[in-house]
Amino acid sequence: MSRIQVRTNHPMLPAEPRYNRILIDGAWREATDWIERYSPAHGTLVSRTSATTAALVDEAVAAARRAFDRPGWRRMYAGERAAILSRAANLIRARAEELALYDVLESGKPISQARAEIAGAADLWDYSAALARTLHGDSANNLGPDTMAMIVREAIGVVSIITPWNFPFLIISQKLPYVLAAGCTAVIKPSEFTSSSTAILCEILQEAGVPPGVVNLVPGVGDPVGKTMVEHDDVDMISFTGSTAVGKGIMRGAGGNLKKVAAELGGKNPALVFADADLEEAADALVLGAVFNAGQCCVGSSRLLVEASVAEEFTSRVADLMQRVVIGDPLDEATQIGPVINAQQHARISSYLDMGRQSARLRTVEQGEAAGGLFIDPHVFDQVSRESELARDEIFGPLLSVIEVKDLDEAIEVANATPYGLSSSVWTGSVEKALRVSQGIQAGTVWVNTYLEG
Ligand code: NAD
Repeated sequence: MSRIQVRTNHPMLPAEPRYNRILIDGAWREATDWIERYSPAHGTLVSRTSATTAALVDEAVAAARRAFDRPGWRRMYAGERAAILSRAANLIRARAEELALYDVLESGKPISQARAEIAGAADLWDYSAALARTLHGDSANNLGPDTMAMIVREAIGVVSIITPWNFPFLIISQKLPYVLAAGCTAVIKPSEFTSSSTAILCEILQEAGVPPGVVNLVPGVGDPVGKTMVEHDDVDMISFTGSTAVGKGIMRGAGGNLKKVAAELGGKNPALVFADADLEEAADALVLGAVFNAGQCCVGSSRLLVEASVAEEFTSRVADLMQRVVIGDPLDEATQIGPVINAQQHARISSYLDMGRQSARLRTVEQGEAAGGLFIDPHVFDQVSRESELARDEIFGPLLSVIEVKDLDEAIEVANATPYGLSSSVWTGSVEKALRVSQGIQAGTVWVNTYLEG
C-alpha cells in the first residue's frame, strides 16, 4: 500500500463537476468543445470548461474594445472605480473557501496554502482600489519662461492577460485589478488546467459592478486562444505569466502591431549560503523555498551554492528537513505538499531524478514516490556538476541541487551561469558580503537572509 493516503471519498470533494463558460460582453456563452479537469490527487472529475474558439476570442476582443472606447469605464470617477474594486475584494473573501477548494482540486496544492493565497489575493484587490484613487501624472515647469508641460497617464486600452496553473487565483489577482484600476479593459485566459477560480472571479466582478465588456473570459488552450489574444490587432498590451519558451513566442507574436508586453517567466533561482550564516534558519527557509507548491514555483530555491567549509553540515541539515516534509492529500490540513500538476510534469521531473541518480549524489532516502500516483518525494542531490541540466534547467519539482563553491566570487559566477535571472537569495552574517552579492548577481530579486518575502 502507498504511504500516501488520499481519500477519493473525501467529504470536501464536490458531487458534480463545475461548469466554466466563456464570458463576452457580460453574457455567458458556450462553445462546442469542453476541457475536462481531473483532480491530480483524487482522480475525480472537478470541472468542465468550455474551450473558446478563435472566432469567440475575436468577439471578446471586440467587446473589450467597445467597452474601452466608451468613456463610461475609462473616465469613471476614481472613487466609483475604487468602490467596485473594494467590493470585489469583499466578495472574494465571502467566497474564499470555494475559491481555495477549486485551486486545490485543479492544481493539487495543499488547502492551507490555497487559503493563504486567496486571502493574499483579496488584499491585492483592496490595494488596487487605493491605487485607483491615487493614480496621477506629473508636470514640468523647468522648460523656460513661456512653457509648462503636463504629463498625463492614460489607460493603454485592451489588455490580454494570460496566466499559468501554479498560482491560479493569486496571479490573475496580481494583474487584473491594476489593469482595471487604470481604466483599461481586459480579455483573460487562465491555464487550461486551472480555469475554475478565474471563472468564479468573473462571477464576482459582475456582482461587484464591473460593466459588461470590461472583463471578458476566454478559457482554453494556448493555441488557438492565447495565440489569438497575442496576435490580435485590437489588443494594446499583453500581460503574460508562464514559461520562458512560450514567453519568447509571445514577444514575437506581439510584434505585429508593436504591443507592449509585460512577461514574467521562469527561474533557476540560486541561494548563496556562506559559512558565517545562521545555518539553521537558512536550511529551514530554503527547504520551504524548494518544496513550496511541490517545487512548482517560479521563484523556488532550486540551486544551493554553499561555501565548501560548511557544505557537508548544511547539506545534511537540509536533507533531514526535506525528509520531514508532510506529503499527502491536499485536502488535509496537515499536508505540506500534494501531487504535481499532471502526468507530463511528473514524467519530466522523474527524468531529472534519473539524471541526478546517475551523475550526482542523492542525499535523501527514496520512499518510492512512484507508488503515489502524481506525488514526488522531495529530493536533495549534492556533488552536482555546475554545467549539468540539474544545475541549469528549471525543473519545477521538489528537487534541490547542491553545488560547493570556494568563495564569494565563485558563488556569484556560478549563480549567474544560467539563462535565467528571476530571483536569488544570499545567506550571511556579513552586511558587506550581502551587498556585494546583491550588486554582483543578475536577478530581479535578491533576498538577504530570508525567502519568499514581500
Ligand atoms: P506555460 O508557458 O506552459 O503556460 C502559461 C499560459 O500560457 C497558459 O495559460 C497557457 O495555456 C498559455 N499558452 C501556452 N501556449 C501559448 C501560446 N502559444 N500563446 C499564448 N499563450 C500560450 O506555463 P505553465 O506551465 O502554465 O506555468 C509554469 C511556468 O510559469 C514556469 O516556467 C514558471 O516559472 C512560470 N511562472 C512564472 C512566474 C513569474 O512571476 N515569473 C509566476 C508563475 C509561473
